[in-house]
Amino acid sequence: MIKEIVKDEKLLSQPAEPATADDAQIGEDLVDTMRATDAACLAANQIGENKAVIAYNDNGRTFVMYNPKLQSGIQRFTTIEECLSLDVPSTVERYKMIRVSYEILAGGKLEKRTRKFTGWSAQAVQHAIDHCEGKLV
Ligand SMILES: [Zn+2]
Repeated sequence: MIKEIVKDEKLLSQPAEPATADDAQIGEDLVDTMRATDAACLAANQIGENKAVIAYNDNGRTFVMYNPKLQSGIQRFTTIEECLSLDVPSTVERYKMIRVSYEILAGGKLEKRTRKFTGWSAQAVQHAIDHCEGKLV
């Protein structure tokens, strides 16, 4: 279901609770809401669910991650990012290459994965992980 984007900074500043296999609906709603916007990524608290679930676009496909965590990053740089929840762009520091641990839902269970990201998708994933930590850019 397409959800309304949360812009309340107080709600967005709360760290997300760990996601479980019962949060599959949040993943689906994130994908639906992403497709209705031009966002590169979206976190669950932006659609009113305070759980560590994010969605991001990579080469035209939308992926969902449960409990994503930044493991490492290299090549720090400064850039300007927009956010669906904020009216003005912000200057942020990001890594060009990151390694992320996360979980996917497979057969009704969460399974651990790790993946490396570079470029746009790396930036989108870092932005969405910040949302899970209650950090606004
Ligand atoms: Zn954002």
